[in-house]
Amino acid sequence: MTTSPLDATAKALNQALEVLDLAGRLALVAGLEGRAVFTTSLGIEDQVITAVIGENQLAVDVATLQTGRLFNETVALIDKTEETYGILIKRFHPEKADVDAYAAQYGANGFYDSVEARHACCDARKLKPLARALEGASYWVTGLRRGQSGNRAATPFAEADAERGLIKINPLADWDIETIRSYVTANAVPVNPLHARGYPSIGCEPCTRAIKPGEPERAGRWWWENDEKRECGLHVPETASSIIPTSSSAA
Ligand code: SF4
Repeated sequence: MTTSPLDATAKALNQALEVLDLAGRLALVAGLEGRAVFTTSLGIEDQVITAVIGENQLAVDVATLQTGRLFNETVALIDKTEETYGILIKRFHPEKADVDAYAAQYGANGFYDSVEARHACCDARKLKPLARALEGASYWVTGLRRGQSGNRAATPFAEADAERGLIKINPLADWDIETIRSYVTANAVPVNPLHARGYPSIGCEPCTRAIKPGEPERAGRWWWENDEKRECGLHVPETASSIIPTSSSAA
C-alpha cells in the first residue's frame, strides 16, 4: 500500500507532537505553513485548547458551529470566552434553506424518529457549516481525547483527513478528564455550567441529556439510539457517516 503525502506528513507530525506539552503542540501547529482552524464546541476540553491559544495569541483561527439548537449556557459561554481571552470565535450557522428543507421532509425534531433523519439534521446544522469553517484550512485542530469513548480510543495526535484534504490535529489525545479538570481549575478557565449538572459532553439541547453515575462520558449524546459508536459525522469520514446504521461529538 502506498503512503500519500498527506499520510506521510501526518505521521511525521504525530511523532513530533507526541513529545511536546499542550502549549508546545499548539505552537508547533500555529507555526506551520498553511491555515490552522480550531473548531470548538465549548466543551471542557475545547475550553482548555482555547485558553492556550488565547493566552499565547497563537495563529490558530477559532470557530464554532452555531447550530441554532445549542443550550443557552453554551451560547453565553461563547461570548464569555471571547472576552476572557480577547479572541474572536467565528460562528458558522446553518443555511436557512437547508434547515427549512429538513423541517419540510422530517419535521423540526424529526431526528428522534430515525438515524437517517438524525444524520440529515447533523448534516444541515453541523457538517455543512463545518465545511465552510474549514475552507482553505491545512490543519484542523480538535479536542478529541482517547478517553471520551471506545470509538475514540485510538485517537492519534495527527491524522490525515483525505476527504477534507487536511490534517487533523488532536493535541489533547492523551489527556484524561481528571487532567482536564485540574487544568481548568488551576487556570480559571471558564467552562459550561452544565458540566456540573451531569453533562460531561454537551451538544445540541434536544440531543443531549445528563448522564447517570458510571455511564460513559458520551452516553448522554443521542441517547435514544442503540449504538456505542454514535457520532454526528464531524469526526468520521463523510462517506462512513452517511452509512452509519442504527448507531450512531465535538462535537
Ligand atoms: S445534534 Fe441533534 S439538533 Fe444538533 S444537528 Fe444533530 S440532530 Fe440536529
